[in-house]
Amino acid sequence: MACPESMKVRPKKHLGQHFLRDLDASKRIADLLSGHENYDTVLEIGPGMGVLTQFILPKSEYSTYVIEIDRESVAYLKVNFPTLEGRIIEGDFLRMDLKAWIESVSPRPSFAIIGNYPYNISSQILFKALEYKDFVPEIVGMFQKEVAMRIASPPGKKDYGILSVLLQAYYDIEYSFSVPPEAFDPPPKVTSGVIRLRRNTVTQLECDEKKFVQVVKAGFNQRRKTLRNALKPMGIQFDHPLLDKRAEQLGVAEFVLLTNLVTAPAPVVE
Ligand code: SAH
Repeated sequence: MACPESMKVRPKKHLGQHFLRDLDASKRIADLLSGHENYDTVLEIGPGMGVLTQFILPKSEYSTYVIEIDRESVAYLKVNFPTLEGRIIEGDFLRMDLKAWIESVSPRPSFAIIGNYPYNISSQILFKALEYKDFVPEIVGMFQKEVAMRIASPPGKKDYGILSVLLQAYYDIEYSFSVPPEAFDPPPKVTSGVIRLRRNTVTQLECDEKKFVQVVKAGFNQRRKTLRNALKPMGIQFDHPLLDKRAEQLGVAEFVLLTNLVTAPAPVVE
């Protein structure tokens, strides 16, 4: 997009602004959108100056919306992407009521999330997407490589953690490619990684799902301990060989089993 230097958005560190310069990487990210489960709406988080947006917009099978917290970027997008008219949401993704939004823009409550995400809030973005998992069949985009690897990691690896288990319970996850710091302006300190998450067929885990989250968190918060010790405060109802293992050794199905061994009922969360 040709634009005089003076018109460009000044990168703000507190908003995690690292603008992607590599157009090839940008196109590859957009092309990861697969239409999984036939969504027709796409929400891009943090479009900045639209380097990724420009490759999503020509995909006419989707109606593309963007949410951007930075006023200066919003002003830039309005000038440079007139076709986005009415589809630029100015605000904080973390505060967005995604259900109310999708119901107001489409008769089908289903959409993909895409972005070269603000890395300072990566985990919060993913926890929020999980909250709305039944509306979100596909999540595509770039995180710091460490987070991307963590999410995609199989059990037994040191990267494997809370977000890996919680996301893998509901999504099939593929690590796609890495992007070096020089591909951004300004360059971040870390390498970046692109992943795609596609909703699997699990509608309901075969255990109390709130308790499942607590068991996963309790297990990893004391990851050096055996699960027998890490879960003791939650009350163990039956003994089982899985309790001799550590959290990082267990896959989703084993955490489900473990959840059914624990007594403490999940507290009511409003
Ligand atoms: N996608 C652009 C910009 C990436 S930088 C590119 O690839 O060049 C991350 C972007 O997320 C910035 O534009 C920043 O302003 C925006 N952002 C940061 N926090 C946000 C939030 N809570 N909600 C929406 N956008 C946010």
